[in-house]
Amino acid sequence: MSKTTEVLTDKFGRSHNYLRISLSEKCNLRCNYCMPEHGVPLTPRSELMTAEEIYEIAKIFVKNGVDKIRLTGGEPLVRKDFREILKKLSTLNVELGITTNAILADRFIIDFKKYGLKKINLSLDTLDERKFKVITRRDQFKKAWENMHLLIEEGFTVKINAVLMKYFNEDEINDFVLFTRNLPISVRFIEFMPFDGNRWSRDKLVSQDEIMTQVTEFFGEENIIDLENEANFTSRDFKIKGFQGKFGIISSVTNPFCDACNRIRLTANGRIKNCLFSNKETNLLGAFRKGENIEPLIEHRLFKKKATRAGMDSFQKLQNPKKHNNNRSMITIGG
Ligand code: SAM
Ligand code: SF4
Repeated sequence: MSKTTEVLTDKFGRSHNYLRISLSEKCNLRCNYCMPEHGVPLTPRSELMTAEEIYEIAKIFVKNGVDKIRLTGGEPLVRKDFREILKKLSTLNVELGITTNAILADRFIIDFKKYGLKKINLSLDTLDERKFKVITRRDQFKKAWENMHLLIEEGFTVKINAVLMKYFNEDEINDFVLFTRNLPISVRFIEFMPFDGNRWSRDKLVSQDEIMTQVTEFFGEENIIDLENEANFTSRDFKIKGFQGKFGIISSVTNPFCDACNRIRLTANGRIKNCLFSNKETNLLGAFRKGENIEPLIEHRLFKKKATRAGMDSFQKLQNPKKHNNNRSMITIGG
């Protein structure tokens, strides 16, 4: 990890070398945990960052120590100028990744390769076509499935993100783990998190403990290898003996991992957020368009970063709708 300047270092000494840029508020799916059924109010196009602005703002982050950029959204691949953005960012000295639902991924394989984007996080919450349609409100399972295999065959580092929901896909946990037997992938189970309009409730959450109980009962404790956590980890990783791939748990709700957080988020309309759970934002794009120096703004927003989940340091606080309802929907944050 590179050393960041004081601009990207918060008061707890955390270095924010990892920038997540949301390229779009739009999406070709409608996942019910991510966006309200009737969509979200969209920012007028003129107020979204252009390709050039994304590049110029990213350059300032890189100058201050960012060495990892992940493109996200909404769905980043719906952006018409995605290739241009990727091309520009590839000239910065950073590791590039993307989080995508993969529906359009086949159209961009050549570009990913050409511009050095190797790490692909792909959202797939179920292995069942019927359930996919329920959760995404779209009939696109086949495309997601084919593209996931295509990306693996083409040699990309593929991680699958699966948000778990009680009584919906919690019965697929072991199937997902079995999926790692012959594939060099990582499946990450994500605890369902509360955001504006996603009807979160504790009752729908499948916790880290519940996931591990299921996996242990099925595979046997002696067959589960506890892997060392990556630096700045979000996922606690495990492997089943003899399996090619691994699985992990992103337990932001029941067991957060804020101590080593190195992430800062830039929304499609150019606001930075110092935490996924924070409703406080700083408008970098507005200042950038006026020709102002945006570094003090970044520094200020990071200085305000709380130790844990935007101050929701207990489960009780996180459960309180007043604490998280003023935040954006996930689709406009960029996970
Ligand atoms: N469209 C892309 C995709 O689905 O991968 C990128 C954007 S999506 C907002 C990024 C990630 O956030 C996805 O893996 C998605 O599963 C996750 N996500 C969205 N809403 C969530 C929630 N309420 N709780 C947990 N994860 C969520
Ligand atoms: Fe779209 Fe990704 Fe949100 Fe699903 S999780 S609605 S694919 S942005």
